[in-house]
Amino acid sequence: MREDPAGSLHMPVYETVAYEFGSSYHLEQAFLGRRPDHIYSRISNPTVEHFEQKIKNVTGAFAVMAVSSGMAAISNLALALLTSGDNFITSRNLFGNTYSLFTSTFRPFNLEPRFIDPGNPEEIDSAINEKTRFIFLESITNPQLEVADIGRISGITKKYNIPLIIDSTLTPPCLFKASDFGVDLEVISSTKFISGGATSTGGLIIDYGRFDWNRSETMEELGQQFGPHALIIKLRREFYRNLGACLSPHNAWLQSVGLETLELRALKACSNCLDLARFLSTCPEVDQVNYPGLEGAAYYELCNKQFRKPGAVMTFRLKSKEFCFSFMDNLEIIRRATNLNDNRTLVIHPASTIFSEYSSRKKAELKVPDNMVRLSAGIEDVDDLITDIKQAFAKMKN
Ligand SMILES: *Cc1c(COP(=O)(O)O)cnc(C)c1O
Repeated sequence: MREDPAGSLHMPVYETVAYEFGSSYHLEQAFLGRRPDHIYSRISNPTVEHFEQKIKNVTGAFAVMAVSSGMAAISNLALALLTSGDNFITSRNLFGNTYSLFTSTFRPFNLEPRFIDPGNPEEIDSAINEKTRFIFLESITNPQLEVADIGRISGITKKYNIPLIIDSTLTPPCLFKASDFGVDLEVISSTKFISGGATSTGGLIIDYGRFDWNRSETMEELGQQFGPHALIIKLRREFYRNLGACLSPHNAWLQSVGLETLELRALKACSNCLDLARFLSTCPEVDQVNYPGLEGAAYYELCNKQFRKPGAVMTFRLKSKEFCFSFMDNLEIIRRATNLNDNRTLVIHPASTIFSEYSSRKKAELKVPDNMVRLSAGIEDVDDLITDIKQAFAKMKN
């Protein structure tokens, strides 16, 4: 880990674009990649590098790249692995913008998503062919809260020699040790839990260095030249540099500070989420609570096996859309906002917001009914949150 030259305990924010060299020879060597110097902040920056190294220490990864957002992490990684005519396997239940990236943005480039049900990993066998370049799944889908059996799926991807990419935004490194479950590549929106309370956008590409790029048709040349470094070199020297989705030094600093309290905050948010799920289950106004941490929930056992805690997001159903709106509008402590894993507890009505561009049929297919509220638990005093929910329901009776 490169430390700050002045010994500052927090790596300071290097708000700079260019770096000066003592001689033309050194500048040449840096451009040839023979010196690990910073040249230009779109390519690397000391504050961003420091954040990357902290993530590397926390995850035990082989290499980490920090980028400007979770979507930048997904798009940079996917584009580095695909060429026109290729396909990849994924789930229908994806974060909305990821679904839109895969089905709309990628279409003119002839990059084909093939959808399977992660609950039925056998479907991978029939979806795969010689043009399949990776499998991309989310650890817990949102808002369906379905959980992929990652260990089992990584067994299948190994058989076919295809890298497994997991978006583990809902279960960051203190909740899920991706490397223990055979994950090759992990992407995380650090905007969520890691940023330390929704301060900044950021994304991470985490490479566990176990995939043999020599055996991948599109990466073979780089694989022979650079071994396990092949993908990260392709990203750093080409895709990341040319697409320009670099993380700002200021955001890297905020997220680096956020990382230091990640575990404390995440464990508190998960414990609040479980308490709220248990409480909501007892409310006569609530039809159905979906939280994989509730005993008897569909993915309860799998979550226990895979995660330290099953995240801090839950959904519940009320009588109708109008009832959901009225409930949300009556809340006083819980906020109405579209984010996850903030320090504050947030609610949203997914069908009329995140999924509003989709038809009713599509919403039904994506399991986003009109009477569902999503709640992302924060780190407040849980009794205050329960009191807030009680008073919101009480107001609706009058
Ligand atoms: C928020 C989110 C993203 C996108 O991250 P941004 O930082 O907003 O670009 C991707 N995947 C999941 C699961 C998310 O929750």
